Amino acid sequence: MGLKCSTQSEAGGTMMKQEKCTAIVLAAGQGKRMHSKIQKQFLEIQGHPVLYYALRCFQGSPIIQDIILVTGEDVISYCKKEIVKKYEFTKVTQVIAGGKERYDSVYAGLLACQETDYVFIHDGARPFITEEILQRGLDAVRETGACVVGMPSKDTVKLSDREGFVKETPDRSFVWNVQTPQIFSYSLIRGAHESIRKKDMSGVTDDAMVVEQETGVKVRLSEGSYRNIKITTPEDLAIAESFLTF
Ligand code: C5P
Repeated sequence: MGLKCSTQSEAGGTMMKQEKCTAIVLAAGQGKRMHSKIQKQFLEIQGHPVLYYALRCFQGSPIIQDIILVTGEDVISYCKKEIVKKYEFTKVTQVIAGGKERYDSVYAGLLACQETDYVFIHDGARPFITEEILQRGLDAVRETGACVVGMPSKDTVKLSDREGFVKETPDRSFVWNVQTPQIFSYSLIRGAHESIRKKDMSGVTDDAMVVEQETGVKVRLSEGSYRNIKITTPEDLAIAESFLTF
């Protein structure tokens, strides 16, 4: 279960309030880099759609109370029948249409949430989340209300200028590759999205950026896993197959 905190009951005694955690699973992307007619989240690994694996983790997690699945308008009924019903993902309470950009899909998911404390925003194209990642993320989000899962970069990273020359080499010990889930207090992320939607959002690629730009809240980095890859290009499918077999 989520965080339990004590509150004062009307009679003066102490009551335990369980905090509610909602997963927003994003599966409304076109996945153009996969060069496949089928969107990457519906391609199969080991006989199941990519999207199945993340939903299975959230379904089985005692932390998560409900799941909102955000997908393409044209595949809502496919998702309901061939994924939610077929695999008995009973925590999925809504399957809704996403938007043009990832942040539009996130916003649609946020609007669909029903009275929740924390949201776990997750790319449906990342099949290898684990209960441990969710638990660590929940512990981390309790600190400031904002947490992003990631891993220290294995490679040295260069920042380039517009002409393709190296501009800067950040100290690798401070460089992380960020993943999902990104976990937030609901009121914080909802407010940050409301505020940034009035501005130019063209550079926004994740939700932590929204909190960084729109609030003074510090975002905690929490350990994910080097297996928590996003299925993006065809070779990622081969890697995913191999993860499932060893
Ligand atoms: O495109 P990218 O790989 O960054 O997408 C990350 C996740 O966001 C994927 O799971 C994709 O389905 C989702 N997405 C979405 N709506 C969009 C674009 C991406 O739900 N408009």
